[in-house]
Amino acid sequence: MSRPTGPDAHRAHGTHRAPSTPSTAGAPSTAITNIGVLITNDPSLGPGPLGPVRDAAVVIEGDRIVWTGTSSRAPATDSHYDAGGGAVVPGFVDSHSHLLFAGDRTAEFHARMSGRPYTAGGIRTTVAATRRATDAELSANLAAFLREMLRQGTTTVETKSGYGLTVADEARALRIATEHTEEVTYLGAHVVPPEHAASPEDYVALVTGPMLDACAPYARWIDVFCERGAFDAGQARAVLAAGRARGLRPRVHANQLGPGPGVRLAVEAGARSADHCTHLTDADVDALAQGGTVATLLPGCEFSTRAPYPDARRLLDAGAVVALASDCNPGSSFTSSMPFCVAVAVREMGMTPDEALWSATAGGAAALDRTDVGRLAPGARADLVLLDAPSPVHLAYRPGVPLVAAVWRRGRRELQDRI
Ligand SMILES: [Zn+2]
Repeated sequence: MSRPTGPDAHRAHGTHRAPSTPSTAGAPSTAITNIGVLITNDPSLGPGPLGPVRDAAVVIEGDRIVWTGTSSRAPATDSHYDAGGGAVVPGFVDSHSHLLFAGDRTAEFHARMSGRPYTAGGIRTTVAATRRATDAELSANLAAFLREMLRQGTTTVETKSGYGLTVADEARALRIATEHTEEVTYLGAHVVPPEHAASPEDYVALVTGPMLDACAPYARWIDVFCERGAFDAGQARAVLAAGRARGLRPRVHANQLGPGPGVRLAVEAGARSADHCTHLTDADVDALAQGGTVATLLPGCEFSTRAPYPDARRLLDAGAVVALASDCNPGSSFTSSMPFCVAVAVREMGMTPDEALWSATAGGAAALDRTDVGRLAPGARADLVLLDAPSPVHLAYRPGVPLVAAVWRRGRRELQDRI
């Protein structure tokens, strides 16, 4: 349905125009017109949090959006693209993934889903394969996942270390990550590696000392898996404090497998996001609602492990900010699909289709403390997804269907028309 055309003759009647910035001045302009409904996530542009505009157009200059409004009023541009009446949404912001790894865990998943006990290595399998991989292999794996995500409409991706667990292996994972994405998280405190099993405190000293020294230059964030069997509250607090002292911002894997101190620790530490939030007390919910820490929910994880889902409705009703992310990793959630996460969140977690879409775009941006992505308004980065659907509700209404028709990232159309 979608087709690009050459330079057009639209006349300028623009409203909502942002002044050109150095990055856009003089860049060719493109109008995406005939958008059935444009989701801006800007309440000043349309009703409610999604800020929808019907019969809309978007004008891109360079890597930025410079105009949004009704299609008939789109200003003159150098070229234009007919959206064919499809819905356009902000590119998904996947604020939680683990993509620096080698190998996979097909056998483990197969056994778990076949009702058989699985006693082989689990995460240790991935750590061993990752340590054996070359830099080129890790980089190629990451690039392939990012491409897979882009095809499904994800234009901003956070990813973490955590499968190296030595100074050199963690640092190289982060260095490789910086070559592919700007949202990089140091997760040396993922699990205690086998060689430190007898002395977890020594491993915490490594994570907060030499490993942090080697990793801090490459990372924006520091994360810790605060859970029974991983790191306790005291250890997690030490990891976050050490990271903060080196200029890294905290985020926490919290309350995934059972109740625990992770969420309150995240709020106390001023973490931007507490991730998983599956087992929460009322005090945890209140802390998230009042503390300004985003609750990032990862439904692919519960789906893939047959675990109970987090209660998004409870968090939303309490006033918490909720993000959705994939948690893409080879063990507990090997999906890279944000549309899948939206569908599961609506079906299983009490979110409305509008809330789930917001959480997968603007919510992810909030979890990464970003205001340039997750919304489509003048001044925002031109990261857009055209759907083969008249409404973004189809993301949940038509689960598993490849609805992404075209993706623009930083103003560039990345995917060609499918047919
Ligand atoms: Zn995770």
